Amino acid sequence: MHIIHIASEMSPIAKVGGLADVVHGLAKEEQALGHTVEILLPKYDILRYSHIQNLKIETPDLWSFEDGKQYHNSVWAGTTDGLRTLLIDPHHNDYYFNRGQIYGSPNDVDRFLYFCRASLEYLLVKKIKPDILHLHDWPTATCATLVKNLYEDLGFSPKGIVLTIHSIEHQGKCLPKNLTRIGLRGENFRTEEKLQDEENPILLNLLKGGIIYSDQVTTVSPTYAEEVLTPEYGYSLNETLIKYKHKFTGILNGLDLESWNPSSDPYLAATYPSNPTFLSKVLAGKKANKEALKQKTNLAISPDDPLIGVVSRLALQKGPHLIRAAMHHLSTRKGSFIYLGSAQDKALEMEFLSLKEHYKKNPRIQIYLEFNEELSHLIYAASDAFLIPSLFEPCGLTQMIAMRYGTLPIARKTGGLADTVFNRVNGFTFTGATETSLIETLDQAVDLYQNNQEAWCRLIEEGLTRDFSWKASTLRYLKIYGLAMNSHGAIQACRM
Ligand code: ADP
Repeated sequence: MHIIHIASEMSPIAKVGGLADVVHGLAKEEQALGHTVEILLPKYDILRYSHIQNLKIETPDLWSFEDGKQYHNSVWAGTTDGLRTLLIDPHHNDYYFNRGQIYGSPNDVDRFLYFCRASLEYLLVKKIKPDILHLHDWPTATCATLVKNLYEDLGFSPKGIVLTIHSIEHQGKCLPKNLTRIGLRGENFRTEEKLQDEENPILLNLLKGGIIYSDQVTTVSPTYAEEVLTPEYGYSLNETLIKYKHKFTGILNGLDLESWNPSSDPYLAATYPSNPTFLSKVLAGKKANKEALKQKTNLAISPDDPLIGVVSRLALQKGPHLIRAAMHHLSTRKGSFIYLGSAQDKALEMEFLSLKEHYKKNPRIQIYLEFNEELSHLIYAASDAFLIPSLFEPCGLTQMIAMRYGTLPIARKTGGLADTVFNRVNGFTFTGATETSLIETLDQAVDLYQNNQEAWCRLIEEGLTRDFSWKASTLRYLKIYGLAMNSHGAIQACRM
């Protein structure tokens, strides 16, 4: 099969969160199974270029349409971790992908709509006929709308289109004129059965368009697939998803076991096996990394009390009020806490900066507000437990990484966390998004660590035996690709 992923992120060259890991991990496994895989990404200024081999211009002149004008682009090709990577480089007055960041510009909608149109233009002029176009989240969802309403008529027709919703929170809401800029009459799409936003009828919703015009839609865990059908979790797209339930599936993400492997992880002070048969080596490895983290961060850690770690985007989704409550609770008792969070929102960043100031004199609490790949690996390895109090969590990778590093997740039972963490089996879970619920569970974890190391180790062993490889998930995606190719005509008919 020829599979093309069109995405806004891919590890390790352009990463904000789990979406990047999924595109990379899934594409790698698809390729390992013998499929031809290519990934189209924007050529951001902040790409980690050292991870791309043989990068050169593959198509010097690609013209793409926006707002009545043709814009010149170059398309670059290189290899990222063995994957053919195509990068669209617009020579546009607005320097769309030279912003020092992936998201967060006031005109993100226009930037990614431009990328969608330029990507399809590239596939059209190169006469590429993929079996599957796999789109990811709102930034590339509009490729489906464009294919079904423009590019099929121009002559570009993949056999099937699949959209994966990594998070339904962000939907790409915009005015009809934004869609008009890239060549579709936006106003014509502002109807209930097309892209009209369910909350604000004057707006279009680009993710909704992706759901309607893709042949199959997936999300990243079975529990989240159920949750988003409800008003509480569906962010107003629940009714649309119920309508298209027949083509909507939840597939649990895998983990790239090569990138996340404590036995070869270059960022660790000491490598160790991820294997329950060698538990004593796991424990020794974790101890050495704890010592290294202590040196690196000046964190005070007592040998009898647990170290609890958090690595996450600092966003409301991740339950910052619960993280703050856990920090406060531990600061007055025993145990150490290290937080690594990359701020997504100014108000939360300010709040956590003042927390950092507040805990400056408490050596058992450390707060880092940055994106730091190296430190994140050391935290997974050094921590005893890993806190994930998310308000919602489409899949979550950090709990899987933690288990692979012999670290027990303390997680709120939602989305993919509910599918992977089981109370007192391979971690600790709580249901309510309340401080009381969290603290009760946190106390149980601390108590078990301090008083029953044998039971604690059994949970570690259980976590280490879980198979989080991409193998099983990839086979499920291939099945969905098959369904997409079979149903492609049906969506076309529905446009008529
Ligand atoms: P999300 O996609 O919602 O951000 P996931 O749990 O699916 O959450 O994936 C998060 C990924 O991003 C993990 O690989 C995690 O280690 C990484 N990550 C998140 N925040 C940071 C950070 N501040 N520094 C380094 N890595 C981070």
